[in-house]
Amino acid sequence: MSKLDDALRSAPRTHKGPRCSIAALLSDLAPEERKALTDAIDGDGMGRITATALSIAIGSAYGVDIHRASIDRHRRHECLCSRRESK
Ligand SMILES: [Zn+2]
Repeated sequence: MSKLDDALRSAPRTHKGPRCSIAALLSDLAPEERKALTDAIDGDGMGRITATALSIAIGSAYGVDIHRASIDRHRRHECLCSRRESK
């Protein structure tokens, strides 16, 4: 067995493929933060926030870099997570 096979064998894998960075961030957040971010992404309550502004706010609030394109993709439900959890 190659070293790569060995390494891949122990790598975590999912049946659904990679999740988008929004989903990964949401799963790391406390419930109240998760709701706030979900609301901001969905545009509930405080109107539509641009993906660029959200990207900056996320970086400022959570110290993570989420590209605006990832936010757009998530909003358009083109990412894997929305395919799984349609609402
Ligand atoms: Zn997503």
